[in-house]
Amino acid sequence: MQANIVVLPGDGIGPEITAVAVEVLKAVATRFGHDFSFSEHDIGGIAIDNHGEPLPATTLDACAKADAVLLGAVGGPKWSDPNAKVRPEQGLLAIRKALGLFANLRPVRPHPAALHASPIKPELLRDVDFIVVRELTGGIYFGDKTRDAQSASDLCRYTSAEIERVLRSAFRLAQQRRGKLTSVDKANVLETSRLWRDIAARIGREEFPDVELEHQLVDSMAMHLIAKPHAYDVIVTENMFGDILTDEASMLAGSLGLLPSASLGEEGKVGIYEPIHGSAPDIAGKGIANPYATLLSAAMLLRHSLGLEAEAATIEQAVARALDDGLFTADLAAQGQALSTRQAAQAVLDRLR
Ligand code: NAD
Repeated sequence: MQANIVVLPGDGIGPEITAVAVEVLKAVATRFGHDFSFSEHDIGGIAIDNHGEPLPATTLDACAKADAVLLGAVGGPKWSDPNAKVRPEQGLLAIRKALGLFANLRPVRPHPAALHASPIKPELLRDVDFIVVRELTGGIYFGDKTRDAQSASDLCRYTSAEIERVLRSAFRLAQQRRGKLTSVDKANVLETSRLWRDIAARIGREEFPDVELEHQLVDSMAMHLIAKPHAYDVIVTENMFGDILTDEASMLAGSLGLLPSASLGEEGKVGIYEPIHGSAPDIAGKGIANPYATLLSAAMLLRHSLGLEAEAATIEQAVARALDDGLFTADLAAQGQALSTRQAAQAVLDRLR
Protein backbone atom coordinates (compact mmCIF):
# COMPACT_ATOMS: atom_id res chain seq x y z
CA MET A 1 0.00 0.00 0.00
CA GLN A 2 1.08 3.55 -0.73
CA ALA A 3 0.14 6.13 1.89
CA ASN A 4 0.88 9.80 2.37
CA ILE A 5 1.21 10.59 6.07
CA VAL A 6 1.46 14.18 7.28
CA VAL A 7 3.41 14.64 10.52
CA LEU A 8 2.70 17.67 12.74
CA PRO A 9 5.40 17.57 15.44
CA GLY A 10 4.20 20.76 17.17
CA ASP A 11 5.85 22.00 20.36
CA GLY A 12 7.67 20.80 23.49
CA ILE A 13 8.17 17.02 23.42
CA GLY A 14 6.11 16.81 20.19
CA PRO A 15 9.14 16.67 17.84
CA GLU A 16 10.88 14.04 20.04
CA ILE A 17 7.95 11.63 20.15
CA THR A 18 6.80 12.02 16.55
CA ALA A 19 10.36 11.45 15.27
CA VAL A 20 10.52 8.00 16.87
CA ALA A 21 6.95 7.19 15.79
CA VAL A 22 7.94 7.86 12.17
CA GLU A 23 10.88 5.46 12.60
CA VAL A 24 8.53 2.76 13.86
CA LEU A 25 6.06 3.37 11.01
CA LYS A 26 8.94 3.11 8.51
CA ALA A 27 10.03 -0.19 10.07
CA VAL A 28 6.46 -1.54 9.82
CA ALA A 29 6.27 -0.40 6.17
CA THR A 30 9.49 -2.25 5.37
CA ARG A 31 8.38 -5.40 7.17
CA PHE A 32 4.96 -5.53 5.45
CA GLY A 33 6.03 -4.20 2.05
CA HIS A 34 4.23 -0.84 2.15
CA ASP A 35 5.35 2.50 0.77
CA PHE A 36 4.66 5.30 3.27
CA SER A 37 5.76 8.85 2.51
CA PHE A 38 6.03 11.45 5.29
CA SER A 39 5.91 15.24 5.16
CA GLU A 40 6.26 17.55 8.15
CA HIS A 41 4.30 20.76 8.71
CA ASP A 42 4.04 23.36 11.46
CA ILE A 43 1.16 23.66 13.92
CA GLY A 44 0.78 25.42 17.28
CA GLY A 45 3.53 27.57 18.80
CA ILE A 46 6.16 26.75 16.19
CA ALA A 47 3.67 27.80 13.49
CA ILE A 48 3.06 31.11 15.30
CA ASP A 49 6.84 31.68 15.32
CA ASN A 50 7.37 30.70 11.68
CA HIS A 51 4.13 31.91 10.05
CA GLY A 52 2.39 34.22 12.54
CA GLU A 53 -0.60 31.87 12.95
CA PRO A 54 -1.17 28.52 14.72
CA LEU A 55 -2.67 26.76 11.68
CA PRO A 56 -1.07 27.98 8.43
CA ALA A 57 -3.08 27.34 5.25
CA THR A 58 -0.22 25.18 3.91
CA THR A 59 -0.56 22.87 6.94
CA LEU A 60 -4.33 22.56 6.65
CA ASP A 61 -4.06 21.97 2.91
CA ALA A 62 -1.46 19.22 3.35
CA CYS A 63 -3.59 17.53 6.04
CA ALA A 64 -6.75 17.67 3.92
CA LYS A 65 -4.90 15.90 1.08
CA ALA A 66 -3.17 13.31 3.30
CA ASP A 67 -4.23 9.72 3.96
CA ALA A 68 -3.63 10.30 7.69
CA VAL A 69 -2.11 12.81 10.10
CA LEU A 70 0.16 12.08 13.07
CA LEU A 71 0.32 14.90 15.63
CA GLY A 72 2.66 15.44 18.59
CA ALA A 73 1.34 18.18 20.86
CA VAL A 74 1.04 21.95 20.90
CA GLY A 75 1.56 24.71 23.44
CA GLY A 76 4.06 25.89 26.00
CA PRO A 77 5.01 28.80 28.26
CA LYS A 78 6.48 30.82 25.39
CA TRP A 79 2.99 31.29 23.90
CA SER A 80 0.82 31.15 27.03
CA ASP A 81 0.37 34.87 27.79
CA PRO A 82 -3.39 35.05 28.60
CA ASN A 83 -3.65 38.30 26.64
CA ALA A 84 -2.02 36.88 23.52
CA LYS A 85 -4.14 37.29 20.38
CA VAL A 86 -3.01 33.99 18.87
CA ARG A 87 -2.50 30.82 20.90
CA PRO A 88 -1.18 27.39 19.90
CA GLU A 89 -4.36 25.59 21.05
CA GLN A 90 -6.42 27.59 18.52
CA GLY A 91 -4.58 25.65 15.82
CA LEU A 92 -5.81 22.37 17.29
CA LEU A 93 -9.45 23.42 17.58
CA ALA A 94 -9.33 24.93 14.08
CA ILE A 95 -7.91 21.82 12.40
CA ARG A 96 -10.48 19.54 14.10
CA LYS A 97 -13.30 21.82 12.97
CA ALA A 98 -11.91 22.29 9.43
CA LEU A 99 -11.46 18.55 8.86
CA GLY A 100 -14.82 17.67 10.44
CA LEU A 101 -13.25 15.43 13.09
CA PHE A 102 -16.29 14.88 15.29
CA ALA A 103 -15.38 11.63 17.06
CA ASN A 104 -12.40 11.37 19.41
CA LEU A 105 -11.59 7.75 20.28
CA ARG A 106 -9.58 7.12 23.45
CA PRO A 107 -8.91 3.47 24.27
CA VAL A 108 -8.06 2.66 27.89
CA ARG A 109 -6.44 -0.71 28.55
CA PRO A 110 -4.15 -0.64 31.61
CA HIS A 111 -1.14 -2.84 31.00
CA PRO A 112 -0.50 -5.48 33.71
CA ALA A 113 3.19 -4.50 33.95
CA ALA A 114 2.38 -0.81 34.56
CA LEU A 115 -0.34 -1.15 37.20
CA HIS A 116 2.09 0.06 39.87
CA ALA A 117 1.95 3.52 38.27
CA SER A 118 -1.83 3.87 38.69
CA PRO A 119 -3.28 5.39 41.88
CA ILE A 120 -6.16 2.86 41.60
CA LYS A 121 -5.99 -0.53 43.38
CA PRO A 122 -4.56 -3.16 41.01
CA GLU A 123 -7.47 -5.57 41.61
CA LEU A 124 -9.86 -2.97 40.14
CA LEU A 125 -7.75 -2.67 36.99
CA ARG A 126 -7.77 -6.31 35.94
CA ASP A 127 -9.54 -6.93 32.59
CA VAL A 128 -10.19 -3.23 32.01
CA ASP A 129 -10.52 -2.60 28.27
CA PHE A 130 -12.82 0.17 27.05
CA ILE A 131 -12.91 3.00 24.51
CA VAL A 132 -14.37 6.43 25.14
CA VAL A 133 -15.89 8.12 22.09
CA ARG A 134 -16.03 11.84 22.79
CA GLU A 135 -17.98 14.23 20.55
CA LEU A 136 -15.38 16.76 19.43
CA THR A 137 -16.85 19.66 17.48
CA GLY A 138 -20.09 20.69 19.23
CA GLY A 139 -21.62 21.49 22.61
CA ILE A 140 -20.67 24.15 25.12
CA TYR A 141 -17.04 24.54 23.94
CA PHE A 142 -18.22 25.85 20.57
CA GLY A 143 -21.45 27.65 21.63
CA ASP A 144 -21.92 31.44 21.78
CA LYS A 145 -20.29 33.12 24.76
CA THR A 146 -21.22 36.36 26.51
CA ARG A 147 -19.52 38.40 29.22
CA ASP A 148 -20.40 41.66 30.94
CA ALA A 149 -19.39 43.17 34.25
CA GLN A 150 -21.85 41.07 36.28
CA SER A 151 -22.31 37.85 34.36
CA ALA A 152 -21.04 35.41 31.77
CA SER A 153 -22.70 32.65 29.74
CA ASP A 154 -21.72 29.72 27.50
CA LEU A 155 -24.36 28.23 25.22
CA CYS A 156 -24.56 24.44 24.95
CA ARG A 157 -26.19 23.52 21.66
CA TYR A 158 -26.36 20.27 19.72
CA THR A 159 -28.18 19.47 16.49
CA SER A 160 -29.73 16.04 15.90
CA ALA A 161 -27.31 15.50 13.02
CA GLU A 162 -24.27 16.14 15.25
CA ILE A 163 -25.56 13.68 17.85
CA GLU A 164 -26.57 11.01 15.33
CA ARG A 165 -23.21 10.86 13.54
CA VAL A 166 -21.11 10.40 16.69
CA LEU A 167 -23.58 7.88 18.13
CA ARG A 168 -23.48 5.83 14.92
CA SER A 169 -19.65 5.78 15.10
CA ALA A 170 -19.86 4.51 18.68
CA PHE A 171 -22.50 1.86 17.87
CA ARG A 172 -20.38 0.59 14.96
CA LEU A 173 -17.34 0.39 17.23
CA ALA A 174 -19.35 -1.56 19.83
CA GLN A 175 -20.41 -4.00 17.10
CA GLN A 176 -16.73 -4.65 16.33
CA ARG A 177 -15.91 -5.15 20.02
CA ARG A 178 -17.98 -6.78 22.78
CA GLY A 179 -21.33 -5.34 21.69
CA LYS A 180 -21.98 -3.05 24.63
CA LEU A 181 -22.48 0.73 24.49
CA THR A 182 -22.83 3.10 27.45
CA SER A 183 -24.25 6.49 26.48
CA VAL A 184 -23.42 9.16 29.05
CA ASP A 185 -25.58 12.27 29.52
CA LYS A 186 -27.23 14.49 32.13
CA ALA A 187 -30.79 13.90 30.93
CA ASN A 188 -32.29 14.60 34.35
CA VAL A 189 -31.26 18.28 34.00
CA LEU A 190 -30.12 19.27 30.49
CA GLU A 191 -32.30 19.57 27.38
CA THR A 192 -29.36 18.76 25.08
CA SER A 193 -28.92 15.54 27.08
CA ARG A 194 -32.61 14.64 26.72
CA LEU A 195 -32.26 15.02 22.95
CA TRP A 196 -29.05 12.95 23.09
CA ARG A 197 -30.77 10.17 25.05
CA ASP A 198 -33.83 10.07 22.75
CA ILE A 199 -31.61 9.77 19.68
CA ALA A 200 -29.40 7.10 21.29
CA ALA A 201 -32.47 5.02 22.17
CA ARG A 202 -33.97 5.37 18.67
CA ILE A 203 -30.75 4.59 16.76
CA GLY A 204 -30.09 1.65 19.06
CA ARG A 205 -33.58 0.24 18.53
CA GLU A 206 -33.84 0.85 14.78
CA GLU A 207 -30.27 0.41 13.50
CA PHE A 208 -28.22 -1.52 16.06
CA PRO A 209 -30.53 -4.00 17.85
CA ASP A 210 -27.52 -6.30 18.30
CA VAL A 211 -25.76 -3.75 20.55
CA GLU A 212 -26.67 -3.69 24.24
CA LEU A 213 -27.28 0.00 25.04
CA GLU A 214 -27.33 1.50 28.52
CA HIS A 215 -27.77 5.13 29.55
CA GLN A 216 -25.72 6.54 32.40
CA LEU A 217 -25.80 9.96 34.06
CA VAL A 218 -22.41 11.68 33.90
CA ASP A 219 -22.09 12.23 37.66
CA SER A 220 -22.57 8.57 38.52
CA MET A 221 -20.41 7.62 35.52
CA ALA A 222 -17.50 9.53 37.09
CA MET A 223 -17.87 7.24 40.10
CA HIS A 224 -18.41 3.96 38.19
CA LEU A 225 -15.34 4.62 36.03
CA ILE A 226 -13.20 4.24 39.13
CA ALA A 227 -15.34 1.70 41.05
CA LYS A 228 -15.96 -0.80 38.22
CA PRO A 229 -13.96 0.15 35.12
CA HIS A 230 -14.02 -3.47 33.87
CA ALA A 231 -17.80 -3.15 33.27
CA TYR A 232 -17.41 -0.96 30.17
CA ASP A 233 -16.82 -1.66 26.49
CA VAL A 234 -17.62 1.50 24.47
CA ILE A 235 -18.60 4.74 26.22
CA VAL A 236 -20.00 7.61 24.14
CA THR A 237 -20.61 11.12 25.35
CA GLU A 238 -20.75 14.80 24.43
CA ASN A 239 -17.77 17.13 24.21
CA MET A 240 -17.31 18.51 27.74
CA PHE A 241 -18.35 15.33 29.58
CA GLY A 242 -15.90 13.39 27.38
CA ASP A 243 -13.09 15.86 28.04
CA ILE A 244 -13.44 15.41 31.79
CA LEU A 245 -14.13 11.65 31.87
CA THR A 246 -11.16 10.81 29.63
CA ASP A 247 -8.68 12.67 31.84
CA GLU A 248 -10.13 10.74 34.78
CA ALA A 249 -9.84 7.50 32.80
CA SER A 250 -6.17 8.18 32.01
CA MET A 251 -5.38 7.55 35.69
CA LEU A 252 -6.46 3.92 35.27
CA ALA A 253 -3.54 3.37 32.88
CA GLY A 254 -1.01 5.00 35.22
CA SER A 255 0.56 7.59 32.92
CA LEU A 256 -0.54 10.08 30.32
CA GLY A 257 2.39 8.73 28.33
CA LEU A 258 0.53 5.48 27.62
CA LEU A 259 -2.75 6.73 26.14
CA PRO A 260 -3.25 7.19 22.39
CA SER A 261 -6.18 8.78 20.59
CA ALA A 262 -7.77 9.08 17.16
CA SER A 263 -9.90 11.97 15.94
CA LEU A 264 -12.13 10.82 13.12
CA GLY A 265 -14.74 12.29 10.77
CA GLU A 266 -17.01 10.70 8.18
CA GLU A 267 -15.88 7.38 6.66
CA GLY A 268 -13.11 7.88 4.15
CA LYS A 269 -12.09 11.30 5.50
CA VAL A 270 -8.62 11.99 6.92
CA GLY A 271 -8.10 11.30 10.64
CA ILE A 272 -5.66 12.81 13.17
CA TYR A 273 -3.78 10.56 15.59
CA GLU A 274 -2.09 11.91 18.71
CA PRO A 275 -1.21 11.00 22.28
CA ILE A 276 -3.71 12.41 24.79
CA HIS A 277 -1.01 14.28 26.69
CA GLY A 278 0.24 17.80 26.01
CA SER A 279 3.63 19.20 25.06
CA ALA A 280 5.14 18.54 28.54
CA PRO A 281 7.35 21.68 28.56
CA ASP A 282 8.87 20.59 31.90
CA ILE A 283 10.69 17.69 30.22
CA ALA A 284 10.98 18.98 26.63
CA GLY A 285 14.45 18.67 25.09
CA LYS A 286 15.66 16.23 27.74
CA GLY A 287 15.02 13.11 25.65
CA ILE A 288 13.10 11.39 28.47
CA ALA A 289 9.46 11.61 27.27
CA ASN A 290 7.51 8.37 27.10
CA PRO A 291 6.95 7.66 23.38
CA TYR A 292 4.56 4.71 23.88
CA ALA A 293 1.32 6.77 23.63
CA THR A 294 2.51 8.19 20.30
CA LEU A 295 3.53 4.75 19.02
CA LEU A 296 0.09 3.43 20.01
CA SER A 297 -1.45 6.43 18.20
CA ALA A 298 0.54 5.40 15.10
CA ALA A 299 -1.00 1.92 15.48
CA MET A 300 -4.47 3.50 15.55
CA LEU A 301 -3.55 5.41 12.39
CA LEU A 302 -2.71 2.15 10.62
CA ARG A 303 -5.96 0.55 11.79
CA HIS A 304 -8.49 3.34 11.31
CA SER A 305 -7.14 5.35 8.35
CA LEU A 306 -5.25 2.70 6.37
CA GLY A 307 -7.20 -0.43 7.33
CA LEU A 308 -3.95 -2.23 8.23
CA GLU A 309 -5.09 -4.30 11.22
CA ALA A 310 -2.16 -6.76 11.35
CA GLU A 311 0.35 -3.91 11.14
CA ALA A 312 -1.45 -2.01 13.91
CA ALA A 313 -1.48 -5.09 16.12
CA THR A 314 2.25 -5.59 15.47
CA ILE A 315 3.04 -2.19 17.01
CA GLU A 316 0.64 -2.72 19.91
CA GLN A 317 2.15 -6.12 20.68
CA ALA A 318 5.68 -4.72 20.51
CA VAL A 319 4.80 -1.97 23.00
CA ALA A 320 3.12 -4.55 25.25
CA ARG A 321 6.23 -6.75 25.12
CA ALA A 322 8.48 -3.81 25.98
CA LEU A 323 6.28 -3.07 29.00
CA ASP A 324 6.24 -6.78 29.95
CA ASP A 325 10.03 -6.66 29.91
CA GLY A 326 9.97 -3.73 32.37
CA LEU A 327 11.31 -1.26 29.82
CA PHE A 328 9.96 1.98 31.29
CA THR A 329 10.65 5.67 30.78
CA ALA A 330 10.91 7.87 33.89
CA ASP A 331 7.14 8.44 34.22
CA LEU A 332 6.62 4.68 34.79
CA ALA A 333 9.86 3.49 36.36
CA ALA A 334 9.12 2.92 40.07
CA GLN A 335 12.78 2.25 40.73
CA GLY A 336 15.80 1.17 38.77
CA GLN A 337 16.89 2.59 35.50
CA ALA A 338 14.57 4.63 33.33
CA LEU A 339 14.97 4.51 29.55
CA SER A 340 15.33 7.55 27.34
CA THR A 341 12.75 8.23 24.61
CA ARG A 342 15.14 6.80 22.04
CA GLN A 343 15.90 3.66 24.08
CA ALA A 344 12.18 3.01 24.63
CA ALA A 345 11.53 3.40 20.90
CA GLN A 346 14.45 1.06 20.14
CA ALA A 347 12.93 -1.50 22.53
CA VAL A 348 9.74 -1.41 20.45
CA LEU A 349 11.67 -1.58 17.15
CA ASP A 350 13.55 -4.63 18.46
CA ARG A 351 10.26 -6.33 19.33
CA LEU A 352 8.71 -5.68 15.91
CA ARG A 353 11.00 -8.26 14.41
P1 NAD B 1 0.98 17.79 29.74
O1 NAD B 1 0.17 16.62 29.32
O2 NAD B 1 1.85 18.40 28.71
O3 NAD B 1 1.89 17.39 31.00
C1 NAD B 1 1.35 16.98 32.25
C2 NAD B 1 2.44 16.22 33.04
O4 NAD B 1 2.60 14.93 32.43
C3 NAD B 1 3.80 16.89 32.97
O5 NAD B 1 4.47 16.70 34.21
C4 NAD B 1 4.54 16.16 31.88
O6 NAD B 1 5.94 16.13 32.02
C5 NAD B 1 3.94 14.76 31.99
N1 NAD B 1 3.92 14.10 30.68
C6 NAD B 1 3.09 14.38 29.65
N2 NAD B 1 3.36 13.60 28.60
C7 NAD B 1 4.40 12.81 28.96
C8 NAD B 1 5.16 11.81 28.32
N3 NAD B 1 4.89 11.42 27.04
N4 NAD B 1 6.17 11.23 28.99
C9 NAD B 1 6.44 11.57 30.26
N5 NAD B 1 5.76 12.50 30.93
C10 NAD B 1 4.75 13.13 30.29
O7 NAD B 1 -0.05 18.87 30.30
P2 NAD B 1 0.21 20.38 30.80
O8 NAD B 1 1.54 20.47 31.49
O9 NAD B 1 -1.03 20.75 31.51
O10 NAD B 1 0.25 21.23 29.46
C11 NAD B 1 1.47 21.61 28.80
C12 NAD B 1 1.11 22.28 27.49
O11 NAD B 1 0.48 21.31 26.63
C13 NAD B 1 0.10 23.43 27.64
O12 NAD B 1 0.50 24.46 26.77
C14 NAD B 1 -1.23 22.82 27.17
O13 NAD B 1 -2.09 23.77 26.64
C15 NAD B 1 -0.73 21.86 26.12
N6 NAD B 1 -1.65 20.74 25.83
C16 NAD B 1 -1.70 20.34 24.54
C17 NAD B 1 -2.48 19.25 24.18
C18 NAD B 1 -2.46 18.82 22.75
O14 NAD B 1 -1.61 19.24 21.99
N7 NAD B 1 -3.35 17.93 22.34
C19 NAD B 1 -3.18 18.54 25.16
C20 NAD B 1 -3.06 18.95 26.49
C21 NAD B 1 -2.29 20.06 26.82
